[in-house]
Amino acid sequence: MQLHLQTWEEVDAYLQRSKGIIIPIGSTEQHGPNGLIGTDAICPEFIGRRVGEELGALVGPTISVGMAQHHLGFSGSVTLRPTTLIAVIRDYVLSLARNGFERFYFLNGHGGNIATTGAAFSEIYAETSMQRPGSNAPSIRCRLKNWWDNPGVQKITGELYGDREGSHATPSEVSVTQYAYPDIAKRKDLAPIGPRTRDFADADDYRRLFPDGRIGSDPTLSRPEHGGRLVAAAVNDLKDDYQRFLSQA
Ligand SMILES: [Zn+2]
Repeated sequence: MQLHLQTWEEVDAYLQRSKGIIIPIGSTEQHGPNGLIGTDAICPEFIGRRVGEELGALVGPTISVGMAQHHLGFSGSVTLRPTTLIAVIRDYVLSLARNGFERFYFLNGHGGNIATTGAAFSEIYAETSMQRPGSNAPSIRCRLKNWWDNPGVQKITGELYGDREGSHATPSEVSVTQYAYPDIAKRKDLAPIGPRTRDFADADDYRRLFPDGRIGSDPTLSRPEHGGRLVAAAVNDLKDDYQRFLSQA
């Protein structure tokens, strides 16, 4: 159930039975020579919508631009500064909270969003923490969950790719995009796997360290059918995790 395909009256009716919403959050950034720029937004959006359909849960509009300053050395990458992304998340949550939403489940597709999203949650909690105790503020709770960060997905990724998974422009995430959009899957021969992950700073530094954009990955292994298996496993685990989140006091 996508929020933008409902009427306000339907949202009112939904709030009678649930205070929760799933919000995909991703990034718009290079994903190596055969990965789509939108990979990190496509994966949580596709998986999140499926979780929403199976549970009858609302899914909000995807935050498809994230914190990706280190990718700006490659054409097509777009970033929000950390402070901007904090403001976006805060305004998104507080807008929905005004009319009764209380549980915000951010389904994430981009490692670079994790620190900033955590800071945004602290900003949101600070609003109520600084009010008088017992001031009747809604009990907002937020969770960030990475779509790949569950036992089902990790098992498949390990079996299919082993240490060729790497940590950016990975065959698993590219497979999910190929499953979601089979007509635009890109095939390309790539150079041998480059350097494994290590610390990087700004966009020039990243491009110098990882010239074709990948970090330690071999996305030529990607297949749409792998994506289908990964999506099914992710949905399975995420359904349980979302329901646990809603049931917490
Ligand atoms: Zn990615």
